[in-house]
Amino acid sequence: MAACLTDPEHGYYTSRDPLGAAGDFTTAPEISQMFGELVGLWCLALAWQIELARGWRLLELGPGRGTLMADTLRAMAQTGPDGQVPPVDLVETSPVLRDLQRDRLAGRDVTWHDGVETLPRDIPYVAIANEFFDALPIRQFVASPAGWRERLIARQDGRFVPMVAETAADDALVKALPDAPNGRIAEVAQVRQDMMTQLARHIVRNGGAALIIDFGDPRLPLADTLQAVRGHEQTDRFDAPGGADLATAVDFADLAGIATANGAGVHGPVGQGPFLRALGIDHRARMLLESASAEQADAIARGHERLVSLTAMGDDFRVMAVTQSGVAPPPGFEGTIV
Ligand code: SAH
Repeated sequence: MAACLTDPEHGYYTSRDPLGAAGDFTTAPEISQMFGELVGLWCLALAWQIELARGWRLLELGPGRGTLMADTLRAMAQTGPDGQVPPVDLVETSPVLRDLQRDRLAGRDVTWHDGVETLPRDIPYVAIANEFFDALPIRQFVASPAGWRERLIARQDGRFVPMVAETAADDALVKALPDAPNGRIAEVAQVRQDMMTQLARHIVRNGGAALIIDFGDPRLPLADTLQAVRGHEQTDRFDAPGGADLATAVDFADLAGIATANGAGVHGPVGQGPFLRALGIDHRARMLLESASAEQADAIARGHERLVSLTAMGDDFRVMAVTQSGVAPPPGFEGTIV
């Protein structure tokens, strides 16, 4: 999964812009400007709520075309004191997407990073990750009478096929998995766990927060959620390595447990629909409609529907905030358990 997505030469993200109608899949910020605007207002409200020190920075993990950040900064500039916006750090491995981000965010104070390791250490962040965790690689295991075995990939008659490892799985990887009947598949996302650990530790040490938005699956870790998408359709997972998007659902309970174990506060997850509604997306849509042409009005209404409808992205996509400890539920999470 790591090689397919981020190989320096042949990786899916490294070699193309996969987003939008002409690409392979469409993300929330590419559906409507309202998504990034509301995320921007959330970041600002959070910074005020926890009285972040001057000098805090905005961080985005996996910023795609830069659309979410552009909309976020515009909304912040219109709302914050004297149009000021914080400096921005972007974690992005794809050179193709970095170029698009550079164009999209021209004139803004932006620094790019290959990973979170090179981020300034002692500065508070408000971090945003939309459809980023789902792209970090996972491993799969299969329950057998002899315990968990890793699911590997073999080449057979010119095709890639899944196979079960002959040796026992590394104990450290499978120790948290529940017992399961033979043949059941489980997913373990160590790279995501490490990412969550680093973010949570940074937040606990310096203050700040992270807003994580992704598609979840309550069956995790006992599920096979790996999917390949090409041209807006699901495709065979082994057909075109590096030529299709690979993603798996995010185990929010797992990430929440890691954040809490590291001393951070966790809010949610809540559905994307209720979250955006609590932040005022219905009102924002009405405002945009007031000055829209007939064609724009149609796009606004359809975008609104796709983002919040419980049969579209509004429920499958979940939103979770990780904050410094002792923070009351931020906007959109009121009524959820801390
Ligand atoms: N957040 C954007 C894009 C989501 S696609 C949006 O909502 O539109 C996933 C993004 O994560 C892309 O920008 C991709 O290049 C980046 N990415 C994937 N794996 C990565 C990794 N291991 N390190 C850093 N960025 C990564």
